[in-house]
Amino acid sequence: MPSSLCEALTNSSISFDYQKEDDWITSGKLGSREAVLVFRTNILNPKIRKTLSEKSSAQVLTDTKDNEEEAVECQEKLEQKESTSSEPSSKDSLSGSTQQKIFLLKKPQQCDKSDKLTFSSPFKKILNRYSSSDTSISSEGEEPASSSENKSRVLKTSQNNINIKLAADLSKESGYESTAPAKSISNTVVSEEDPEVTSEDDDESGTNMPASKLKITYKFHQTETKLLRKLFNVHGLTEVQGENNNFNLLWTGVHMKLDIVRNLAPYQRVNHFPRSYEMTRKDRLYKNIERMQHLRGMKHFDIVPQTFVLPIESRDLVVAHNKHRGPWIVKPAASSRGRGIFIVNSPDQIPQDEQAVVSKYIVDPLCIDGHKCDLRVYVLVTSFDPLIIYLYEEGIVRLATVKYDRHADNLWNPCMHLCNYSINKYHSDYIRSSDAQDEDVGHKWTLSALLRHLKLQSCDTRQLMLNIEDLIIKAVLACAQSIISACRMFVPNGNNCFELYGFDILIDNALKPWLLEINLSPSMGVDSPLDTKVKSCLMADLLTCVGIPAYSPEMRSHYDQKWSRFRSSSCQRQATFPCASQKTKKSKKKGPAINLNLTGEEQRILRNARLQYSRRGGFVRIFPTDDSMQRYGNFLDSANGIPISTPNVQSQTFQTPIIQHNYNQMLHQNLYSKDGRQKQEDNSEADRIWQYERALETDSEIPFVKKPTVEKCEVEGRRLRKVMLKKISNGSELTPFQARQTFSIYLESVLRRLTEDPKDNHEKIILKFLNKFGGSIKPPVMFRNMQNIKVASKARSAMVAKLLGDFLENYKRDTEAYVDSFDHFGMIPSSAYNQFLMHAQESDLEAVLTLHTNVTGIMPFLYNRCGLSVPPTPPIPSGLHGFLRALPSMVSSTGINRELSKYDGYFKSFDKEKIFL
Ligand code: ADP
Repeated sequence: MPSSLCEALTNSSISFDYQKEDDWITSGKLGSREAVLVFRTNILNPKIRKTLSEKSSAQVLTDTKDNEEEAVECQEKLEQKESTSSEPSSKDSLSGSTQQKIFLLKKPQQCDKSDKLTFSSPFKKILNRYSSSDTSISSEGEEPASSSENKSRVLKTSQNNINIKLAADLSKESGYESTAPAKSISNTVVSEEDPEVTSEDDDESGTNMPASKLKITYKFHQTETKLLRKLFNVHGLTEVQGENNNFNLLWTGVHMKLDIVRNLAPYQRVNHFPRSYEMTRKDRLYKNIERMQHLRGMKHFDIVPQTFVLPIESRDLVVAHNKHRGPWIVKPAASSRGRGIFIVNSPDQIPQDEQAVVSKYIVDPLCIDGHKCDLRVYVLVTSFDPLIIYLYEEGIVRLATVKYDRHADNLWNPCMHLCNYSINKYHSDYIRSSDAQDEDVGHKWTLSALLRHLKLQSCDTRQLMLNIEDLIIKAVLACAQSIISACRMFVPNGNNCFELYGFDILIDNALKPWLLEINLSPSMGVDSPLDTKVKSCLMADLLTCVGIPAYSPEMRSHYDQKWSRFRSSSCQRQATFPCASQKTKKSKKKGPAINLNLTGEEQRILRNARLQYSRRGGFVRIFPTDDSMQRYGNFLDSANGIPISTPNVQSQTFQTPIIQHNYNQMLHQNLYSKDGRQKQEDNSEADRIWQYERALETDSEIPFVKKPTVEKCEVEGRRLRKVMLKKISNGSELTPFQARQTFSIYLESVLRRLTEDPKDNHEKIILKFLNKFGGSIKPPVMFRNMQNIKVASKARSAMVAKLLGDFLENYKRDTEAYVDSFDHFGMIPSSAYNQFLMHAQESDLEAVLTLHTNVTGIMPFLYNRCGLSVPPTPPIPSGLHGFLRALPSMVSSTGINRELSKYDGYFKSFDKEKIFL
């Protein structure tokens, strides 16, 4: 059996042109089950990628030879494994050479105290995130920024710091600018940030990388993360699509279907846990935490603002309001990005039938230079039993554009009260930092910059971060029980699932953190160099930490066979109690001490935890820590270590056929034993705080590249407009796809004008249109009547623009269902029409839409031709903005929803909150 694996290895003649394979593979030699890929941010930089690929052709030969030798080693190792169950071997243990090569270089946190002192500038210096030992590579990097950067620069605009107008970017972001009509609209869960970056024309295929030679694959499902795609590509992973489930890593934007989870092989990884909506749905999260408040005491779980789910708890809300008056913040239960949120002074301002989550509004938020801010921190859970939680060392601070004023008159103003980027980016005063080093400039900062800023003001940042860690752990504990039982039922292997959660945290002016929500699939969109830096490092570290097994297809089939044998006996696995035969023999090899009393499964867990910790990059493990059992042990079941959130759970869920293990206790004991043996892990409170406060710094610049765009030619646009108008007059029609393309590019122009040059009456028209249109883009109650917002202002324009932006996003997604693969008789040929769209200005688009509507009497951009309830087409006045003025009268408030619902099913699954479990 082992020989087949080694045959597979030798037959595949793997050689690596970049560098030695152990720079790109870690935790074990190639061929071992522990070997995983290494991801680094430095090869996102095309210059460095080129250097890497040029420098090492001479290594190919040696590496090929090395690999043959390794195949033999691998065979020996597998044989040993067979005989010693899951006992770790020295070759791929932490003390092994492979590890040392990588990790000696890597960790500032592994420096001793004197090292720390010499680290004068507070950088999270990461040496390429898994840097190679090749200094020529890092010398390509940026100059380290001076410590003077540490000084506070609150919301200043500098020469470097330009207010990049959204308007200037919008047309560039439009997928329709491309001449390829069908594929230009992305089939995505759209992120909070503008997904505009990261396409370059240099080679991104990573063909020389180990992952390419090993044919490691990834699959995206209902998500599109350009940054992630690029990371995969440059590291040599290839994409599989469609029904092909032969992936190593599945990255989905929604919760997973059970049949996929159930059939995962040991080498496959997916980026969600089953039932994690227990954490990521606002209503579920609050209910879970509320239960813990009742069970464990309010003082331990006072981590969320008081919350009610309407309409069920309307009465409780009124009672609470009578005790402590508002304001209250009203959020749709299954929504995100600030959509549909409004603030009221009293519950009677909330419509009776509103299905919403209503929370006590925190009126005294921490402000920076007078602007309200909140935090997005990234939390990685690699296992729920045992619980292993990491917090990424860097996070993002989002600032509201308008200065905070708690006076009730301002409650309508989303750019003052909500910190979402997707709202504030439409405000014409919104400032983006234009340099990755500017971490405390404009309306988006880094967490470390905030901490340094607060420290300068003598705030207790240590306590703040400890409270944030505590809040995260408690939120996970509150939701874990149900997720653990789903994992036990559906997840076949301990390492199949991992999940990165985006925690939104508001800090009040007493520095108490409050959990607002937990995001499933936090946005990896990047809109500035700062975003690119933080998210690239985050993603590279995430992939390395969770570990994508370095299996070749040949090795995979070997494990597949083994897996099917294992699966057929998997029912017994859970019911089996540890017995003497499972205890492993004493290891003769060096490496971390092995506790002889551990079962094979426990040894695997311990070994994985250690290896993962050694690959953690910028992730800070916050559970388990030295004192975690002391602090949280009371919330865990004393017998099996499961976080308990229901009083009678022991008798119901976890006891009967399942073994009485206590993985949390076992792991803690072995990682942090105090019984005379050497402490295994160094993850002290001081280390963690120090890591949060340092600025994130990469050795090589991570490029922030905007999409290349085709320059529009006004004259050509006018010429083509005439051609199109003539065709329409002669009886040609736009296909529904062309009509929808035209309408969305037209609305993008309107959106641009709303932010550049707001016009009161245009805002009203758009609101009226969206109000009649309904659906999820309906304006929040307070804004449905423009008269409620008396003053025309930049904030009001931003709010209308945000609503229109949300509408457009959905509309473009829906348009994909209309793509034509060939030209129809009597319709305008697609190639000619695409030429027109490429150069058309707003007036050209308006002229075409107007004539087409008047001549044909149909509105294919809003209604399906054979729909049942299409309202009569109103006459469209010609002339400037005539089409816009007629827009609200084109919508029948009842008809459109029915019409569009035809396509609802197609896109339903894009809803971030869609639940499969
Ligand atoms: P979404 O998922 O739509 O982004 P959030 O719960 O994150 O909704 O809230 C959006 C914004 O509203 C946050 O950025 C925060 O600034 C503000 N916010 C939310 N809840 C509260 C609250 N209870 N008190 C004060 N501000 C809040």
